[in-house]
Amino acid sequence: MSDLNIQHIRSLFPILHQEVNKHPLVYLDNAATTQKPLSVIEALQTYYQLDNANIHRGAHTLADRATGMFEDTRKAVKQFIHAAEAEECIFTKGVTESINLVAQTWGRKFLNAGDEIIISYLEHHSNIVPWQMICEEKGAVLKVIPVLPNGTLDMDAYHQLLSDRTKLVACTWASNALGTINPVKEIIEAAHAYHAFVLLDGAQAGSHLEIDVQALDIDFLTLSSHKLYGPTGVGVLYGKRALLEMMPPYQGGGEMIKEVSFEHTTYNEIPFKFEAGTPNIGDVIAFKQAITFVNNIGKSNIIKHENLLLQHFTSGIHKLNQTFGSEQIALYGTAADKVAVQSFIVKGKHPFDTGMMLDARGIAVRTGHHCTQPLMRFFDIEGTVRASFAIYNTLEEVDILVEAIRNMIHKPAF
Ligand code: PLP
Repeated sequence: MSDLNIQHIRSLFPILHQEVNKHPLVYLDNAATTQKPLSVIEALQTYYQLDNANIHRGAHTLADRATGMFEDTRKAVKQFIHAAEAEECIFTKGVTESINLVAQTWGRKFLNAGDEIIISYLEHHSNIVPWQMICEEKGAVLKVIPVLPNGTLDMDAYHQLLSDRTKLVACTWASNALGTINPVKEIIEAAHAYHAFVLLDGAQAGSHLEIDVQALDIDFLTLSSHKLYGPTGVGVLYGKRALLEMMPPYQGGGEMIKEVSFEHTTYNEIPFKFEAGTPNIGDVIAFKQAITFVNNIGKSNIIKHENLLLQHFTSGIHKLNQTFGSEQIALYGTAADKVAVQSFIVKGKHPFDTGMMLDARGIAVRTGHHCTQPLMRFFDIEGTVRASFAIYNTLEEVDILVEAIRNMIHKPAF
């Protein structure tokens, strides 16, 4: 058992204490978005009640206060990911925007015809499509690291794909569909040996894994606040200073400029060069509380507890398969090193029907392709049911899920 007081942690999340379809809510859709602790909700409310002002340009107290709190979150992000400088942390609206920013700025300036970008079969669409778009525009070539049946990357194939033509490796740190944690140290070292840069999609790593961008020598890292107990509409792009300084701006407008005339505009320093317009001030400020929440518990405690939940679930499924026949529930993503995400299909049931039956018991899971259609095609399936666990989930909730699955074996969908 983990030493954490999970009931206390649960008490910090008002949304968890409700009934759905006459059953206590069992929220297991955390890979899609996590719930928010009261501290985050209150920070947002306090900001609008007491501090609301536009930032960076105001000569009045509220503007100063809002600016200070906004920049405090940047400092908290810097510490959270162990960046060298807060200026290397750019606020975006999420991982999707962070990746598009790199594709449209770095990609547009530095990619040439025949250059290669390597992604993997495990990628979310947001780490596929932006690269396809820029490759098409620049005549560059997209290469894909294959995946093995257990959901790990074929690392031999990765090493073969690398060459002097490789300019960037854009790879997820942890798979949202299967939970696989990729060997990012090996990926980065191998890419750097060819002078290629590495972008890690940290959407799923943010709340589950220790992050040290300097120790791993990560060139770009993306995060979404809403996947680590913070508000939606806030993301981070980390980039090494030297890289960010070489990149042209993303969007033009206020804040990203130094001097504007009708003939010529000069651009602001990082991070402001990439933060045109009024940002999502209130949500950025509240995001700091989410980081504090995670720091207070400690990543190692989070990892320990979530591993326990994942193991409890998979052993529950193995027991069902032993009882009812090993074909009853197929597990997708069985790598040894995983975040607490498990995809599965109950035999003879469309994932959507399984999701609806679980919802009838108050259990929230995600069904479908999880924005990873190429990966689903690899497994020759349309989609899966995905249970994804967070720090506030309990072993009892896992038991409720396993029991609900047991009850649907051999039963018609509706
Ligand atoms: N990458 C991964 C691995 C994800 O899980 C997600 C969201 O599900 C994204 C990227 C996109 O994140 P966002 O929708 O917050 O931009």
